[in-house]
Parts: sequence; structure tokens; C-alpha cells
Amino acid sequence: MNRYPQVTVDLKKLLHNVKEVVALGKASQVEITGIIKGFTGIPEASLMFQKGGCTMVGSSRLEQLERAKEIGVTIPLMLIRIPMLSEIEEAVKVADSSLNSEREVLEALNKEAGKQGKNHGVILMADLGDLREGFWDKEELINTASYVENNLKNLTLLGIGTNVGCYGSVAATPSKHQELVDLKDDVEKEIGRPLKIVSGGATSSIPRLMENNMPEGINNIRVGEGIILAKDLRDLYGYDMSFMYQDVFTLKAEVIEIKTKPSYPQGEIMFDAFGNKPEYVDIGVRKRGLLAMGKVDYGYLENIYPRMKGVKVLGASSDHTIIDIEDVEEDIKIGDILEFDLSYASIVFVTNCENVRIVIKE
Ligand SMILES: *Cc1c(COP(=O)(O)O)cnc(C)c1O
Repeated sequence: MNRYPQVTVDLKKLLHNVKEVVALGKASQVEITGIIKGFTGIPEASLMFQKGGCTMVGSSRLEQLERAKEIGVTIPLMLIRIPMLSEIEEAVKVADSSLNSEREVLEALNKEAGKQGKNHGVILMADLGDLREGFWDKEELINTASYVENNLKNLTLLGIGTNVGCYGSVAATPSKHQELVDLKDDVEKEIGRPLKIVSGGATSSIPRLMENNMPEGINNIRVGEGIILAKDLRDLYGYDMSFMYQDVFTLKAEVIEIKTKPSYPQGEIMFDAFGNKPEYVDIGVRKRGLLAMGKVDYGYLENIYPRMKGVKVLGASSDHTIIDIEDVEEDIKIGDILEFDLSYASIVFVTNCENVRIVIKE
């Protein structure tokens, strides 16, 4: 039975996007780690990252990496959130490598890897100003690199990395990347061998590939949004992203009511379902529709965009979305399915919500 709400994933379009970003990387000797957390690691979609030429698949969630492995992803898996002490056993079992910044965690990984008779790869994260994860003190990073190299026999120091543009909104400029390359040189001097991976950032680093100004030495970036949606670089940075599909994911919802009603609530206005006091604008009597999906399904109302011309999203409660359809040319009927584009944030919600069916389009 075809039930709604539904999110469809177009695998052909996704594969196209993966290949485009991999090709961009190749031109600058930069390998792409495909990040699957943005779509809750839907396994069929994760497989496209491998098929399209990513050299690693990464997620902040071990369950997603595990499901990728189960469906047949054979390239190395990377845990891109600092491992929790409570997940060390699972991390060593499932992930081939992880991003790290704490000696205590590295000790635990080393011990567990020994227990499992495995070797675990580590990338030490440098915080270059975005103020999320990573060593702030560069000496501390260099000393830790040396410690991993010489004392933690079940770990392999794969390289160093950084993350920008996540918390502190810091831009991935060539000079930020150069800082990471300089740090790589210091680490290599300290340990006396070249590092395999220098991971320069996420989607916000793609402009360096498009403008051909990625400093030499950066040889990896970790990309989620820039592959699965490719909207940020277009909408926030003004790049021409028309070579990518922006509609890999489609949210579909069913119309359950169509009525002509006033646009201004009648009665004393107090609070909505979430304890807020929204502003309502009286634009007279309008034709409106009610959809059987709500904030529980997609999180934020501002992050879903109707594809049909003239449909305006007015508001939502947990399980209902209210739309203005007065200006729509088509004749919308009860039971019709309306389609929505999504933002990166709403893709996470809809794919993570058990009420929303995930439909794979081969
Ligand atoms: C989420 C995340 C990424 C991917 O970010 P996008 O902006 O989706 O490309 C890369 N690295 C780390 C550490 C992350 O947490």
C-alpha cells in the first residue's frame, strides 16, 4: 500500500551528484569521503557513494555505518564524531577510522583494538577557529600525534583534519587550509614520515575545488550536503550549481481537507500548539488545504518548499500542515499528493521519522 507522508530518494540523481563532486576532487588530487548522516544513512543511498567513487563513507552515527556495511559498502568507514567512551567497542568493530581530539579516547580505542585484534585508523582534528571539535593548542596536537605514532600500537595515525563552517560559521578560505597544511608539515617533521590523509573540511570546501585554489597538501574532504542536496553553495554562496540535481529527495504528503476559510483566526488569540503567539495577517477569505503531515515529520516549517506553483505554506502543528491554495491553477482534490523540496535539515528529519515512509527510486 502506498502510504503517506513519504520521502523518495532518486538513486540515479544521487549517483550523478556523487560522480560530479568526485570528479571535481580528482582534478585537485582531493579524495571525497561521502557523508551519509544527512539522510540517516539510508543504506541504498550510502551504496551510491561507493559506486560514484568516494574513497570512504563517513557518519557521526555508528548504526548508519553498520547498515552501510550490511548492504555491501566495502570501502573504509569513518566515524566523523569523536567516539563516545560508551561506544568504543562498537566503534572499533564497525568503523575503520575515526576523528579524534582526546587522549583518553585514543587510549581506549587502542586498548579495544588490541582486544579485538584489529588496527584502528585515527585522524587528529585541529580546531582552526570554528570552535567545535579539535585541538586548539597546536603543540598538543603534534605531541598527541607523536604519542599515537610511538605508543599506541593498535592505532594507525592516518592524518589530520579540520572542520569549519559548522558552529562558528568560519569560511573555508585558502589561508585556513594553508594553516592545516603547515600543521601537517609540523606533524610530519615530528614523526618522521608523511601523513596519508589531510582532511580539509566539508561541503564549504568545495569552492576551493571549483576555483582551483585548494592549497597543495589537502587531499581529502568530507562531503554531505554538497552531494545530497547541493543547495547551500548555490543559495548561500552564489555558485552556479546547475550541474547538480537539487531534487534527489522529494517529500510527498496527502491532502485531507480543502475549504474556504478566513485567513485571520476567529476568537481571542492566545497560544498555538507549541506555546508560541504567532502573528496572523488578515488577507480575507481564502481557499486552503490541509495536509496529513506536520512538524513531527519534518521539523521546521521553513524548510519544506512546495513544488506546485501558487501553493503557500501557512503554518503547521505536530501532524497537520496548512496551505493556502487560492492562487493555484490546478484543481487540487482530496486525496491528491503534493510534493515538496527539502532543506538539508529537513532531509534529516523526514528520513529519521518512523511516520515517513522511505521510498527508493532505482
Ligand atoms: C557533518 C560533517 C561533515 C559533512 O558536512 P556537510 O556540510 O554536510 O558536507 C563533515 N565532517 C564532519 C566532522 C561532520 O560532522
